[in-house]
Amino acid sequence: MPRVRYGHFLRMVKSLDEQKPMPRKFKPSVDIVIPVYNEAGVVEQTFAGLRAVADSLSYEFTFYYVNDGSQDGTSDSLAALAKTDHRVRAIELSRNFGHQAALTAGLDASSGDIVITMDADGQHPPEMIPQLLDLVRQGYDIVQTQRLDDAQPTSFKKWTSGLFYRLINLISGTHMIPGAADFRALTRQAVDALKAMPEYHRFLRGMISWIGFRIVILPYQPVERISGRSKYTLGKMTRLALDAIFSFSLAPLYIGLSMGAVLLFLALLEMIYVLSFWVTGRTSNLAPGWSSLMFVILIVGGMLMVLLGFIGVYVGYIFQEVKRRPVYVIKNGGKNG
Ligand code: UDP
Ligand code: MG
Repeated sequence: MPRVRYGHFLRMVKSLDEQKPMPRKFKPSVDIVIPVYNEAGVVEQTFAGLRAVADSLSYEFTFYYVNDGSQDGTSDSLAALAKTDHRVRAIELSRNFGHQAALTAGLDASSGDIVITMDADGQHPPEMIPQLLDLVRQGYDIVQTQRLDDAQPTSFKKWTSGLFYRLINLISGTHMIPGAADFRALTRQAVDALKAMPEYHRFLRGMISWIGFRIVILPYQPVERISGRSKYTLGKMTRLALDAIFSFSLAPLYIGLSMGAVLLFLALLEMIYVLSFWVTGRTSNLAPGWSSLMFVILIVGGMLMVLLGFIGVYVGYIFQEVKRRPVYVIKNGGKNG
């Protein structure tokens, strides 16, 4: 595995929170959650890397591998891993539910004080784990890694990812961190907050921003996939982007309302235009029937669009209700102060 230089990263760590974090003193248990889909060729090798790092640290580790309905020998590889290391737990999903669902299954199964989620293909360097844990011990609730921009495998991925983050940050009320990877450390409190969001369409990178807490961004240089191909097909990526846009923004629903307003404004302009002919006594210059026809078209079109917009807004409100997100998340206080 290529070597990663950390001095470089440390300088780039920046806090999003004004408050100074409080260092944590206890020695927590750490769960590593790893979704896997058709990765039989790599799990053994990536686990060896992971174990080497885990064994060099004095935390109590548990590894939750979530097999997301793999059709290759992943299931057997995981069973073999669990035999060689009692800290490995394999969770088998009944079919392929997708990366975000598999991550959710892992978070639900975890019970450690700190949970780290990462990919199985070696692209998330396990050598960064000590640094993630250090930042949690410094008092951060979420240590979010961020892929360095020049590290995108293809210019197409770089371009689409850049466009996606610009768009979502424009239309959504939740700030999304560009290039955020599903490689992060979370405290139990942050995991519990995520678990309190029962929505079906899950875009964890957005949900992480939504729950709040003290978050720190750790940029990293991803390494090449050890073997095999990306399991994120264009279709899966598009679905993820749509999940993100539609579950974090109601802006598309306001399109009807804005278009209606534009049409009604045009109707008003047309009225002024026609009136100007009447006032200056040039009505003979108007084509017969044009003004009334235009007026009716613009008014009816505008009204329809506005009404559609109203329905859209109600649908948006219903959508927000059915997501059943908590109304707030408590950072501290509550039971026994
Ligand atoms: N993965 C998954 N279910 C899927 C697709 C991917 O569990 O339907 C896993 C995959 O095995 C890997 C991680 O999610 O551990 C990230 O996928 P991948 O490396 O293919 O994505 P990329 O790094 O190319 O964005
Ligand atoms: Mg990958």
